[in-house]
Amino acid sequence: MIDAVGLHKTYRLKKRQVHALNGVDLHVESGEIFGVVGQSGAGKSTLLRSVNLLERPDSGSVRVGEEELTSLRGARLRAARRGIGMVHQHFALLSSRTVAGNVGFPLEVAGVSRAKRATRVGELLELVGLGDKARAYPSQLSGGQKQRVGIARALASDPHVLLSDEATSALDPATTDSILSLLRRLRDELGLTILLITHEMDVIKRICDSAAIMEDGAFLESGRVLDLIGTPGSLLARSLFPLPDNGGPESVVITYPRSFDEPFMSELTRRFDVDVNILGGGVEQVAGQSVGRLSVDMRGERRREALSYLSEHGLLVEE
Ligand code: ADP
Ligand code: MG
Repeated sequence: MIDAVGLHKTYRLKKRQVHALNGVDLHVESGEIFGVVGQSGAGKSTLLRSVNLLERPDSGSVRVGEEELTSLRGARLRAARRGIGMVHQHFALLSSRTVAGNVGFPLEVAGVSRAKRATRVGELLELVGLGDKARAYPSQLSGGQKQRVGIARALASDPHVLLSDEATSALDPATTDSILSLLRRLRDELGLTILLITHEMDVIKRICDSAAIMEDGAFLESGRVLDLIGTPGSLLARSLFPLPDNGGPESVVITYPRSFDEPFMSELTRRFDVDVNILGGGVEQVAGQSVGRLSVDMRGERRREALSYLSEHGLLVEE
């Protein structure tokens, strides 16, 4: 759905240049939630704004659906942009307008009649759970409610792609949860493709199918979240499951890149007569699977056989 290839963007300030995008390739499948995670200044917002060409990259191409956006200008570019909704960290609501006025704003700009607008705004507010807030003003809403308004407004023009720039970064954990659940439900119900950027690993863990880690204007790794977790040396795996640095020579890191029914640890001790001591790690729901990463100390004559047994059963063993 989104294919960006070879994106470069350099900002020229008075005395220095900032390479905000330094050769980024981004591939987002239709209907997936793709998260780009990275520290402040990594280039995430520049990337997001390049996808709808609010920022024109110096080089590289951006295709969204059937449209090669980088080849469009003027009215055709504006028309293509209507297929791409955007949600902002600080909501960007108009304080002088009611909730309904905010959500209907893009429709007004597009010249949609008052009657059609009213119907559509009603549907959108129901969709995001704000059916009773049409006449409220932004100042009367909680942060979570404001973001729901922002999401409803982004959906007003029936986009097939939603871009989200740190949509939950200004929210508390419980509200973050509810907004992430809403985004996932919208993806499921409307078949949206969602590209979100965040500096929170938790967002990746909770709703992303695919992810990229961004640093200094480039992707360090990118792919399906579960594939990355199952890849030796994955930065994403390390960031999602930080392990204590207390391993000795007999320690190994064992990754379960998906749900398993088999009780591997007790099986190991029985079958291979090894002693297993868990040093750290955890098991969590990631992309709908029970994924785990453990640092363990394993001793015994048949240690090597035990580790092979784990590898043969699809676990990742890193020594
Ligand atoms: P992130 O969203 O990951 O924090 P940004 O894409 O906002 O990163 O910024 C990447 C780099 O580009 C930063 O060093 C930032 O200061 C710089 N930058 C972003 N926008 C501009 C701009 N309009 N003019 C100059 N420098 C910019
Ligand atoms: Mg940013």
